[in-house]
Amino acid sequence: MAAPHHRASSVLERLLNEGSVEEYAYRLAPKSHAFARIPREPHITAETVEARWQALAAPGERRERLLDAQTRAQMEAYQRNIENFIGTVKLPVGIAGPLRVNGLHAQGDYVVPLATTEAALVASYSRGSQLITRAGGCTALLLNEGVSRAPGFAFRDLIEAGRFVSWVLSQMDAFRAAAATTTRHGRLLDLRVTVEGNHVYLGFDYATGDAAGQNMVTIATEAVCRYILEHTPVEPQYSFVEANLSGDKKASALSFLSVRGKKVTAEVHLPAELVKAGLHTTPEQMVNYWRMSAMGGVLSGTVGVQGHYANGLAALYIACGQDAACVAESAVGVTRFELTGDGDLYAAVTLPNLIVGTVGGGTGLPSQRACLELLGLAGPGHAQALAEICAALALAGELSIIGALAAGHFARAHQQLARGSGKDA
Ligand code: NAP
Repeated sequence: MAAPHHRASSVLERLLNEGSVEEYAYRLAPKSHAFARIPREPHITAETVEARWQALAAPGERRERLLDAQTRAQMEAYQRNIENFIGTVKLPVGIAGPLRVNGLHAQGDYVVPLATTEAALVASYSRGSQLITRAGGCTALLLNEGVSRAPGFAFRDLIEAGRFVSWVLSQMDAFRAAAATTTRHGRLLDLRVTVEGNHVYLGFDYATGDAAGQNMVTIATEAVCRYILEHTPVEPQYSFVEANLSGDKKASALSFLSVRGKKVTAEVHLPAELVKAGLHTTPEQMVNYWRMSAMGGVLSGTVGVQGHYANGLAALYIACGQDAACVAESAVGVTRFELTGDGDLYAAVTLPNLIVGTVGGGTGLPSQRACLELLGLAGPGHAQALAEICAALALAGELSIIGALAAGHFARAHQQLARGSGKDA
């Protein structure tokens, strides 16, 4: 958080050239004048949306861009996904692929829809995907599953906390039953206990079927907490349904110690000729780059070591109705490149925190569902395949970016595609 002396001084100098201390003090102070209220009627109807636009007093042309005819016709579909609805934002969607995945759950050549405004991103993932496909595809394995909620309980002292924990450990069947009253597809799998002084954190891990599961586990854990508060022999001074020990929406030290969502690993063997033809470099140079970039990751303190999982995952999550904020924990993992005895390239990625689903959340919205349908993964029965495709896509992205850096083409690709009319990625 520290700003170096010379930079802090130059910012201060610029500010004082542009205004006085009194002006800044006024600008930064709290203001008590009245503010315009946004109509908060929760249901999405033509009238409530109109009332909000009236309150905004925005020009019709701006309104038309957010609330076009198609959005108006479909707006009730967004009922359970947004509050204070005024329209939709359009993002370009491109397709990357074909991406051949030989997974436990995902099988076949996938064309992956990616929503982004970053030029070169789709081209890069598409290039990596085609390379994988030419090599016969990548192998992908879903290794583990589970979504957690971690309520916290505060006691007077460690003795009370200890008595609480010993009671909790005898209640697993009752917790399972309480959770089961709230969901048909969610299932309480396990419980982890963390004691810190007189605080007790309980980590409840759930299977969530084909849903990403964050609402499911919150609602189920609320029911478990109700049971705890009604039956515990030691009353906590206070408690919270989530005490921030679940890793929800953040990269954390938990990432590699447990699973959050779905843990998947994917690998590919790339013959040297394919690396040369597809990436214009050699396996050896790619491994050189990977080794140096792994050290760069260690030196900069990243959680895991990888190049840019967030790019592909964010674009896929947005296109396919996943919770884009979960990229915070999903884009954690480890990439490893090695030279094989034959001089070919071995590449692997492991992502322990993929929070994805094919039902619930935003997966039923019109264009998001269309993207899942393009993948052949809309609806029940497909969440595990989607997770394996996420890992395969991350692998494609790592191959492409490391190839570009190894070949010295990284800046060129962005310059051509973002600033010019280039064709190569
Ligand atoms: P959800 O849409 O709230 O719940 C999934 C629904 O699908 C449940 O009603 C479930 O019924 C039903 N369902 C039908 N078939 C299913 C199947 N085969 N497998 C699983 N469920 C099936 O979605 P969610 O995944 O629980 O939560 C994701 C949403 O939570 C996202 O929109 C995300 O943005 C948001 N979120 C919430 C929190 C939070 O703390 N509340 C935090 C982060 C994100 P049953 O439950 O009866 O099985």
